Amino acid sequence: MELFWHRRDLRAADNVGLAAAAGTETDEADRGPAAPVFVFDPAVLDHASDVRVRRLLDGLAALRDDYRERGSDLLVARGDPEAVLPRLAEALDAERVVWNRDYSGLARERDAGVRRALDAVDVAREAHHDAVLHDPDAIRTNAGDPYSVYSYYWKKWTDRAKADPAPAPSDEALADADRLADAADAVDGTDASDATAADGGVDASPVAAVGDLPTPADLGFAEPDADVGPAGTAAARERLADFLDEAVFAYEAERDFPAEGATSRLSAFLKYGEIGVREAYAATEEAMAEAESDARPDDAPEQVEEFQQQLAWREFYTQVLFHNPEVVTANYKEYEEGIDWRDDPEEIAAWKRGETGYPIVDAGMRQLREEAFMHNRVRMIVASFLTKDLLADWRHGYDHFREHLADHDTANDNGGWQWAASTGTDAQPYFRIFNPMTQGERYDADAEYIKEYVPELRGVEADLIHEWHELSPTQRANAAPAYPAPIVDHSERREEALAMYKRARGED
Ligand code: FAD
Repeated sequence: MELFWHRRDLRAADNVGLAAAAGTETDEADRGPAAPVFVFDPAVLDHASDVRVRRLLDGLAALRDDYRERGSDLLVARGDPEAVLPRLAEALDAERVVWNRDYSGLARERDAGVRRALDAVDVAREAHHDAVLHDPDAIRTNAGDPYSVYSYYWKKWTDRAKADPAPAPSDEALADADRLADAADAVDGTDASDATAADGGVDASPVAAVGDLPTPADLGFAEPDADVGPAGTAAARERLADFLDEAVFAYEAERDFPAEGATSRLSAFLKYGEIGVREAYAATEEAMAEAESDARPDDAPEQVEEFQQQLAWREFYTQVLFHNPEVVTANYKEYEEGIDWRDDPEEIAAWKRGETGYPIVDAGMRQLREEAFMHNRVRMIVASFLTKDLLADWRHGYDHFREHLADHDTANDNGGWQWAASTGTDAQPYFRIFNPMTQGERYDADAEYIKEYVPELRGVEADLIHEWHELSPTQRANAAPAYPAPIVDHSERREEALAMYKRARGED
């Protein structure tokens, strides 16, 4: 018996650690069966949000149902993993605890604690690379350093051979539901004095049950207002297949236009690991083969490659965070004097509400609240607006995204924010400041996206929407009385932003 600890890999298929624990990967007769467990860790929940808890619970329900269809189930425990996992391993008489690596700083600290706890009770443990195609140490510069420039990283990333999807464990290679229930009973309510009581977490005493998922309220969270969308491997596969059937062949051409719905919307599935990245990549290779056939336009292969490039961005930021865990809160680029952010609370609040008077910005911020998602181009626009029009610290934006995005991923979110704020690895140069009106006009010419999320502007012609900042108060009142006037003047703020960055760089 081996205990397999699910974390950000809520799937049974293409799961490297699970395949190893179950003895499926190499057909190792002396391994498995695998007993799958998810642990609600109070320390992790401290950083969660209503949206992400809902999304997590949906993903766990789908995973549990997958296991149930195979005669197994999902153990669901609560408490500090350092206390819970040794007890579960003992109750199951497990030889090993196996998991897939999580590369963020906090996760690594947690895993180090779990390793020590398991060593103390002589239970073996094993960690696998699973979340990315190339682990964060695998691709380095010729001088042996981690990459900080994406284009060079991409060249190596794309040239490297990729692993095939890991095989899904057979039904026999999974612990049966009765065995899991016995183990849960043995752990449930055991004395917590040496466990997490001192943490005062969600529920200090370790508890375990089979397939019994808590509600958000049990964990101290509320149901979010946003619709977090479908979850689970079946939904992820369906979405990927739909996307690769047609949209991918126009991906490069259309991905920047938010009204087109031209992107995969796989991000939350990838974040929770409901689809394996090897499986997703293999499917893109099949699409590439089709793109190279005569049936598709000449530029189809580039369109597919552009999509593969996004998967590589995800891995690029994973390795940036892995090698620089401090970037979660610190600028990657250390400006000598530090940037003197203005941080006006009212302006930041208007940005969060989607009431800046800049239509494309407001549409994005409202999409975020409604769908727990925002289109990539619009993420870039709203992030530029917060940092370079409102002169507000990117960390305000990062925190807000962290709270409201279902796909919030520390590495990608941080990478995106530091890119926009010109403080990151391969960032937008500080003097490149998006003009929110031009961006809206270019990428949402008919204001279709804007009108979807900003109902006050639905009856207004696109031309007027894109000139909103230039209209007189009377014109604005006539066109859309309920929609606000711009809260700042972009041209003025642009100059102020340039001065702010130059001061920080000692260039003024
Ligand atoms: P697609 O265009 O279909 O891309 C496919 C996949 O590639 C995505 O699902 C994602 O896993 C990955 N990907 C795409 N673009 C990027 C990128 N620029 N950086 C890293 N990975 C990428 N992405 C997140 O997954 N989580 C975040 O918390 C997040 N925060 C962001 C914050 C800011 C300020 C910005 C500018 C970008 C952020 N991104 C984040 C990146 C990107 O916006 C989303 O991954 C993308 O919009 C998700 O939509 P999709 O799945 O349809 O993407």
